[in-house]
Amino acid sequence: MKTIDRFAVKLNGRLWPVHFVKTSKHLDPKDFGVCIEKGGGGPLILIKKNSNIEEELDALIHECIHGEQFDFLAEEFVEMMATDVARAILKRYHVVPRLIDG
Ligand SMILES: [Zn+2]
Repeated sequence: MKTIDRFAVKLNGRLWPVHFVKTSKHLDPKDFGVCIEKGGGGPLILIKKNSNIEEELDALIHECIHGEQFDFLAEEFVEMMATDVARAILKRYHVVPRLIDG
């Protein structure tokens, strides 16, 4: 599957760069992604490059939801919603959670 490591998405009318990275000083090693509203180059969404497409998509959706309503939605709700939406998308496109090529 071909992937793009850097792009921008408009979330709630604001343009957010999205970068897929192996490591970053802004990304805690235990986290799959981070949404930086201000400071640290924000607005910016960082997603840890992950060999598991389900985890990567889950993280991307999760951080985009934060970008839509920064500091507004409960973390528990964002986690559940991102995971559920990621699974629905993967089912539609017949993507079995597996390793991304390379
Ligand atoms: Zn979160």
